[in-house]
Amino acid sequence: MVPLEFRYGPACSAMGCGRPALYKVAASWSDGASWELKNYGLACEEHRMSQLARGQLHRQGLVLADGEVVGQVGLFVLRTDTRDSKLDRLPDHDA
Ligand SMILES: [Zn+2]
Repeated sequence: MVPLEFRYGPACSAMGCGRPALYKVAASWSDGASWELKNYGLACEEHRMSQLARGQLHRQGLVLADGEVVGQVGLFVLRTDTRDSKLDRLPDHDA
């Protein structure tokens, strides 16, 4: 039995796209005690760079509370069957 979200994966966050998302735009976030990925959107192959740029803009506008640490926004290979902490960050997009 396959859960619904595995068969109908999440869609790209770009306006008017709607293609299946292959990447998650995210930055590592920590409050000092735990960490997670702060999600900035989802992207298909075509929109991954524009969604990344959009996420980086959001990141720049972020105001951090005391003790909060947020890493650079990056692209992660989206996997619906894997926890965020296990997602693979793409190595080749840092510009
Ligand atoms: Zn797209």
